[in-house]
Amino acid sequence: MNNALSPVHIIGGGLAGSEAAWQIARAGVPVVLHEMRPVRATDAHKTEFCAELVCSNSFRSDDSETNAVGVLHREMRAMDSLIMRCADAHQVPAGGALAVDRDGFAAAVTAALEEHPLITIRREEVAGLPPADWDNVIIASGPLTSPALAEAIGALTGEAELAFYDAIAPIVHFDSIDMDKAWFQSRYDKAGPGGSGADYINCPLDREQYDAFVTALIEGPKTQFKDFEKTPYFDGCLPIEVMAERGRETLRHGPMKPVGLTNPHNPTVKACAIVQLRQDNALGTLYNMVGFQTKLLYGAQIETFRTIPGLERAEFARLGGLHRNTFLNSPKVLDRALRLKAQPRLRFAGQITGCEGYVESAAVGLIVGRMAAAERLGRELPPPPQTTAIGALLNHITGGHIETIDAGPRSFQPMNVNFGLFPPLDFTPKAPDGKRMRGPEKAIAKKRALSARAEADLRVWLDSAS
Ligand SMILES: Cc1cc2nc3c(=O)[nH]c(=O)nc-3n(C[C@H](O)[C@H](O)[C@H](O)COP(=O)(O)OP(=O)(O)OC[C@H]3O[C@@H](n4cnc5c(N)ncnc54)[C@H](O)[C@@H]3O)c2cc1C
Repeated sequence: MNNALSPVHIIGGGLAGSEAAWQIARAGVPVVLHEMRPVRATDAHKTEFCAELVCSNSFRSDDSETNAVGVLHREMRAMDSLIMRCADAHQVPAGGALAVDRDGFAAAVTAALEEHPLITIRREEVAGLPPADWDNVIIASGPLTSPALAEAIGALTGEAELAFYDAIAPIVHFDSIDMDKAWFQSRYDKAGPGGSGADYINCPLDREQYDAFVTALIEGPKTQFKDFEKTPYFDGCLPIEVMAERGRETLRHGPMKPVGLTNPHNPTVKACAIVQLRQDNALGTLYNMVGFQTKLLYGAQIETFRTIPGLERAEFARLGGLHRNTFLNSPKVLDRALRLKAQPRLRFAGQITGCEGYVESAAVGLIVGRMAAAERLGRELPPPPQTTAIGALLNHITGGHIETIDAGPRSFQPMNVNFGLFPPLDFTPKAPDGKRMRGPEKAIAKKRALSARAEADLRVWLDSAS
């Protein structure tokens, strides 16, 4: 414990800020946590608790062998996460998921922070840039960052680099796309600034398939905007179902236009419409469905998108959405230690960095808290390996995502942790009898191997970092 050190300041006592405060204090560094509730409300929070869960009470799958968020749970537990400790203590029955009694959970997090001698909680809004004498700051103000702070951040980053809505197109695991039906080609074979001329995966629809697809979009169940979200449609990011409602041919003239592309599997037949997927991460394991932001319910998305030729067995790393969400264009404006390049005393954590979800937000808070504490103690924290869930998530935020391969709009969008963010294995898992595996059996074996590699690599990293 070292009260002589000047404190790290954290703005926002949500999932990320609470975890960051805990990690910094357990490293012996004092923390001042500035949380604006109850002095100032957000549109979604209802209590005064730190780490309030604003919607579902689930931390998703707790299966650390075959589910990436389960791996992240395991890693956070190994790093003495306050969020995981309180979640485990306030668990409610939910099958294979980790769900919590929301008030018991948030009250426990708040009490642990209040009781820690190195943590001071100030109930106040930071309504602009932090004072100049705060030399080590974590901004963890979340998807509903107060307008005054958001404005100040936007002025530092440039307005174009701070978004107020996400527009999420689904992302597909490359190895689940049927390349006997789909093919690689850029429109008119254009290479663009960062491409090769064959950068997109194309999936062709004939007239009958297109008509059925449009009907499914129009008739499918949708999520509704919350009152405070208003209707954030703006040019270039209309949901596909809204485009379909504007006219049955609209999509064929928009994101599904079939021009400049020739199907090598069937070169003489012209497709009625073509869905394009663009590489999403540097590893080449994930592809996003270009222009396919949508408010269809998740089940309807899976069902409808699997009618697209080539995507019949698609596995989705992320499904589409459109929400009120404040987040940075992190790959551009943050460095590898999540510091703002324009002003490195400011670090960012949680959903505002472009991760998605309670667990991911807390995980980024955990690692950023450790980075801030190490800096205050004059130590170097080596980054977690990309083969771990936490390292894979950080890599997505700060560098693994491909910004754009052509002159399109910025494409960085929030992401849950998933195995597609992990570097692929350098071997093919075999059955115990040495035979090659296929289908679901092979997929499960790969996940188990990725999880085992993550566990081993985290252990080595923790030993080297301590
Ligand atoms: C409506 C909604 C529903 C969601 N539902 C889910 C869900 O069901 N499951 C899921 O996994 N994820 C969900 N999310 C996404 C996300 O995971 C959560 O929002 C998560 O709480 C983000 O963690 P965070 O710490 O980044 O932000 P938050 O938990 O929101 O914490 C940010 C904190 O900063 C405070 N704050 C903001 N501005 C200031 C300021 N200027 N000064 C001081 N304090 C400030 C806020 O009061 C808040 O307490 C949802 C998001 C929203 C907006």
